[in-house]
Amino acid sequence: MIKSKPSENARDGVTAYAVKKLAALEAGELRRVLKPTARRGAETSRNGSQLISFSDNDYLGLSAHPEVIEAGIAAANDYGAGAGASRLVTGDNPLNKAVEAKLAALKGTEAALVFGSGYLANIGAIPALAGREDALILDELSHSCIHAGARLSGAKIYTFQHNDADHALLKLREAAPFGQRIVITETVFSMDGDRAPLLDLNAMCESHGAWLMTDDAHGLGVVPMDNPAPVQMGTLSKAAGVYGGYVCGPRALIDLLVNRARSFVYTTGLPPFVLGSASKALDIIAADPALGARAMANARLFCTLTGLPEPQSAIVPLIVGDARPALSLSESLEREGFLVTAIRPPTVPEGTARLRFAFAALHQDADIRRLAHCVNAALAAAA
Ligand SMILES: *Cc1c(COP(=O)(O)O)cnc(C)c1O
Repeated sequence: MIKSKPSENARDGVTAYAVKKLAALEAGELRRVLKPTARRGAETSRNGSQLISFSDNDYLGLSAHPEVIEAGIAAANDYGAGAGASRLVTGDNPLNKAVEAKLAALKGTEAALVFGSGYLANIGAIPALAGREDALILDELSHSCIHAGARLSGAKIYTFQHNDADHALLKLREAAPFGQRIVITETVFSMDGDRAPLLDLNAMCESHGAWLMTDDAHGLGVVPMDNPAPVQMGTLSKAAGVYGGYVCGPRALIDLLVNRARSFVYTTGLPPFVLGSASKALDIIAADPALGARAMANARLFCTLTGLPEPQSAIVPLIVGDARPALSLSESLEREGFLVTAIRPPTVPEGTARLRFAFAALHQDADIRRLAHCVNAALAAAA
């Protein structure tokens, strides 16, 4: 069937370019490769061995919940495998509205809009809220897609020191000459597990005519969140266990995003399976707060056993420093049957390579105790 092929010259040019870029990554020990991993709930297999994973964002175990899967299958049977078009054309099947109503109810906002993913929500919503005359004031540890959305918007970008409301205020004052000013932060930070001072940040925004926007990717379903921000985005791919992103806020904002967020307008709607299963997952989150509490209790048990500070979410970082020792620690835990990913720059700042433990409702007490024992032993051996 293939009739035309790239010339050898063109192919060699592309290859040479990629090889050179990869060599630079390798020199900095930053080259990453995919590792085929089959997981279902807490059971994970990789390289032929069974591992207990502490690296998933599936905090409530909903990705493998039978009712969630069944609801997805029912939706696929009703509406097919794919959306068929963008939401504004024919892709707006009724499941979208149902998911949006549940999100708005959970967050206590007037309305919500589902996006293809959390990444797409941020790179669409931020440029719809701010343009060249405006200023964005970001926590320095904000997720890559917040920075990407900020750059796409063309707005002036300021960053403030992590979780430092005083420093944010300084930047807000510096940004005074700009039109709309928006402070953006995460509710729970993805690589540190700590929580933003939302009440302080929001009060500051209100008294300076600015807005607060939050990214609740790692908060939904896990931490009870008192969130006063008028614009709240998040994802259905973490505690909700499925896929998709969202923005919650006032009705008029949602109507504006339908018109102006490019990553909403110019992309296909979510597949029915995803919407059906996400809808069920949101029902479970609303009905059963004990699931999130169990994930938190598991994180707390681990921190007590390893002498780490009291966790503020289900994410516990163990900061090692350089990339190499972080990788060795991860490898030694894998030999003990645990999957704990080492997180390295550029995902985290230089010199803060770490193990990131993510605790879930499905983890067993005995496994957490053995994990803590192995971590303590490995750290003692390395000291
Ligand atoms: C994971 C994540 C996203 C992206 O969400 P996806 O649905 O996976 O695209 C956005 N923000 C934060 C803070 C995240 O951790």
